[in-house]
Amino acid sequence: MSQARLSPGVVPGRLTPNELVANFVDVAPPLTPHEARVAADRCYFCHDAPCITACPTSIDIPLFIRQIATETPDAAAMTIFHANIFGGMCARVCPTETLCEGACVRMEAEGKPVEIGALQRFATDGLMARGSHPFKRAPSTGKRVAVVGAGPAGLSCAHRLAAKGHDVTIFDARPKPGGLNEYGIASYKAVDGFAQAEVDWLLGIGGIQIRHEQRLGEQISLDGLKAEYDAVFLGMGLAGVNALRAQGEDRRNVLDAVSFIRDLRQATDLAALPIGRDVVVIGGGMTAVDAAVQARLLGAENVSIVYRRDQSRMGASRHEQDHATANGVRIICNAAPVAVHGNGSVVEVEFCYTTDGPSGLTLTDNRFRLKADQVFRAIGQRLQGVPEELKLQNGKIAITGPGRTSLGGVWAGGDCATGGDDLTVTAVAQGRDAAEDMDALLTGRPVEIPG
Ligand SMILES: Cc1cc2nc3c(=O)[nH]c(=O)nc-3n(C[C@H](O)[C@H](O)[C@H](O)COP(=O)(O)OP(=O)(O)OC[C@H]3O[C@@H](n4cnc5c(N)ncnc54)[C@H](O)[C@@H]3O)c2cc1C
Ligand code: SF4
Repeated sequence: MSQARLSPGVVPGRLTPNELVANFVDVAPPLTPHEARVAADRCYFCHDAPCITACPTSIDIPLFIRQIATETPDAAAMTIFHANIFGGMCARVCPTETLCEGACVRMEAEGKPVEIGALQRFATDGLMARGSHPFKRAPSTGKRVAVVGAGPAGLSCAHRLAAKGHDVTIFDARPKPGGLNEYGIASYKAVDGFAQAEVDWLLGIGGIQIRHEQRLGEQISLDGLKAEYDAVFLGMGLAGVNALRAQGEDRRNVLDAVSFIRDLRQATDLAALPIGRDVVVIGGGMTAVDAAVQARLLGAENVSIVYRRDQSRMGASRHEQDHATANGVRIICNAAPVAVHGNGSVVEVEFCYTTDGPSGLTLTDNRFRLKADQVFRAIGQRLQGVPEELKLQNGKIAITGPGRTSLGGVWAGGDCATGGDDLTVTAVAQGRDAAEDMDALLTGRPVEIPG
C-alpha cells in the first residue's frame, strides 16, 4: 500500500504504479471476432432504421453491421468512415445510450440494444491497424482553405476538403493536434495514445498541413486568413471556462476540471500527478463525471459531484452517472456553491440547497459544508478569442445551414458554433457538412452528405 494513500492535502502517489495501471485500463475492451459476429447477429437490419436517424453523422448502421455479419469488416469500416472519419474515436466516446443504441428497436423490445458502438470499434480498429489510409484524394482543384482548430470539427472538415482535392492548412493554438480528443476525453475511454494515432492515420490522406502554436487573434488574424485563402473554417471549440461566482473561489487548489483532465491526459507518470484526499467537483455534465471518476482512480478517498439542479437535468447521461457512482463517487443534487473556505488553500466548500421552480433556480436558507482539499469547477466552457466582426448567438458563432457564418467565405462548426450539442460526433458532422458546402461553393460540385 502506498504511504501517501490517506495523507491529507493534494499529494502525488496515493496509489502504487500497479494500482494506477489497473485503474486506467480501457473501460470497454474491444470485441473478439466471435463476439462481434454474435453481436451483429442480433441486428434486425431495420428498414428506416431509427439508429441511423439518431446518429448525428447518419452512419448506415444496419449496412455496416450486415457487413460484419457477412465477415467483411473492412467494408464495414469504409461504410463508417465515409460518413464519419472519426468513427474510431466516436466508437469509444459517443454516449451511444442516448444516441444510436438508445434508439435501437432491440432496446425498446428487450432493454438491451445491439452493441453498435462496440461493433463500430471492431470494424474501424481492424482497418486502422493496417496503417495505410483508405481514401484517395481527387485531382487538385488549386484551391486553398484555412482551418482554425485541429479538433474533431477542424480535422473532419480538413479531411473532407483534402479528399476533394483542396489544399488545407490547419492553424492550432496547441502543440499537439486532436483538440479535446487529445486533451479532454477521459483517459480510460481512449487508451494507448489512440487520439494521436487516429490523427496520424487521418492525415494519411495527404494535402493537410498543420501549423501548431498559431492562435487566432495572436499569431494569425481572420482578415489575414481571408486574404490568403479561398475559404476559412473556424473549429476553435470553447477555450474559456466559466467561473463559480462563489466567494473565495480564488483559494489554492480550486481548479478548472478541464485543466486537471488535460494534465492527466498529458502525464507520462500518473503516480507523479497530485490529487486531493477529499475532492469536490462542481457541475453536472460529462466533464464533471470524468474529473470525479479520474480523481477516484488516482486515489482520492472521498469524491463528491455537486450539481445545482435535479438529477434528471444533469448533462451527463444516466449511464455516465452510474459509471461515477460505480466508481465510488457521491452525487449530491439541488445544491449550489456559495463560498469556498480556507486559509490560503481550500478546506471546505459551503453550499445552499436550491429549489427549481417556474421562476428559475432559488437558493434556500438550508446550508451545508463539504470538506475539500481540492475543488474542480466543471460548470461549462465558453467561447474565447473569437473575431469581433462575427455575429454570435447565445454565446456561440451564429451559423446557418451547413456552417455558414455572418461573414462571406467563413464557415464554423463544432463546439464554437450554434446548433451542436457539445459532443465529438456533432463536431465531426458539422466539420464534414461545412466542407461539403465549401466545396460546392468553390467548385460548383453537388454536396455529398449521407443520410
Ligand atoms: C472533459 C471533457 C470530456 C468530454 N468527453 C466527451 C465524451 O466522452 N464524448 C463526447 O462525445 N464528447 C465529449 N466531450 C465533448 C467533446 O470533446 C467536444 O464536443 C469536441 O471535442 C468538440 O470538438 P471541436 O473540434 O469543436 O473543439 P475542440 O475539441 O475543443 O478543438 C478545438 C481546437 O481549436 C484550438 N483552438 C482554440 N482556440 C484557438 C485559437 N484562438 N486559435 C487557434 N486554435 C484554437 C484548440 O487548441 C483545439 O485543438 C468532452 C468535453 C470535455 C471538455
Ligand atoms: S435499430 Fe437496432 S436492430 Fe434496427 S438496424 Fe439499428 S441496430 Fe439493427
